[in-house]
Amino acid sequence: MMDFLNLKRVNAPHADAIATGIARVLDSGWYVLGKECDAFEAEFAAYCEVDHCVSVANGLDALHLILRAYGIGVGDEVIVPSHTFIATWLAVSHVGATPVPVEADAETFTLNASLIEAAITPRTRAIMPVHLYGQPAEMDAINAIAAARGLRVIEDAAQAHGARYHGKRAGSLGDAAGFSFYPGKNLGALGDGGAITTNDAALAATVRELRNYGSKVKYQHDVAGVNSRLDEIQAAVLRAKLPHLDAENAARAAVAAQYIDAFRGSCVAAPVVPAGTEPVWHLFVVRCPERDGLQAHLNQRQIGTMLHYPRACHLQGAYASEHWPPLPVAERLQSEILSLPIAPYMTTGDVQAVVDAVRSFYE
Ligand SMILES: *Cc1c(COP(=O)(O)O)cnc(C)c1O
Repeated sequence: MMDFLNLKRVNAPHADAIATGIARVLDSGWYVLGKECDAFEAEFAAYCEVDHCVSVANGLDALHLILRAYGIGVGDEVIVPSHTFIATWLAVSHVGATPVPVEADAETFTLNASLIEAAITPRTRAIMPVHLYGQPAEMDAINAIAAARGLRVIEDAAQAHGARYHGKRAGSLGDAAGFSFYPGKNLGALGDGGAITTNDAALAATVRELRNYGSKVKYQHDVAGVNSRLDEIQAAVLRAKLPHLDAENAARAAVAAQYIDAFRGSCVAAPVVPAGTEPVWHLFVVRCPERDGLQAHLNQRQIGTMLHYPRACHLQGAYASEHWPPLPVAERLQSEILSLPIAPYMTTGDVQAVVDAVRSFYE
């Protein structure tokens, strides 16, 4: 069986460096908010080409703390993509604001910027584009709308560590960005983790306070914050892996290029990559109308696949009680998308095996 994603194989090349990092933490006797965390924040800020990085416990907290720090809450609206992982919507709900879905572009899978204006109301406070599957959203158009309307732009960069848009890194493209280091992400810890990146010094200071019980000085609490911190062990793991992220993203890009080449003119539609964007291929998602049959066929041929995501956010139980506008793109995508295996360890032979299995379905 070819695993959809084998995390043991993803981490194997880093095993020695990870073990060294964990031993260093054990030996230090200091396990939360210490030297590893400080060093990782500096290294990840440099990697994302921003002034500030504040680490937190997970990607959902990164997004929701940015919203809270910007004073977005009850009665406010935040524009989110109709097609995304539910954490994007939940971050908005967690601060008491309302997610307002705008449809994705079905070929790039990111927010369709031409539909944003129509969704803006007097209550709109921010736009939250998602660099879904590692493909940067149309940030120039989104930033232009936000600037004209006085809105914040908060990137959900949880799937886009290292991606570039017109030369600039994901995480540096809006007012602030939220990252996740969940184990399966392009930069993954051995547990949960997240970070906020920004050039906004005031925002960085506020989330730094919020993540640690609303405290700047120990046992002095000026705001009712939360406990959302990256522990020293996870920071050490991420420091061991970060220097290799660009090489791993390049390996993913090679897999994606081979797939795109193989599927050109075939029955499965590969993602479209707009000029000026460098996606990092967190996932490789194709579209085809006979998706369920193809997935069953690949399973029979011992190829692991997944659906990202099988049910649109507005159709989830969590949001069932609200009234949503028709979202036909999100609903069509949920029935047509199929995620094929993609990982830095895959060889051209592995990719060819997947391609052959896909082709055999149509023969
Ligand atoms: C993973 C993910 C998140 C949330 O990250 P967690 O660390 O799991 O909380 C948010 N948005 C998107 C698009 C994601 O893929």
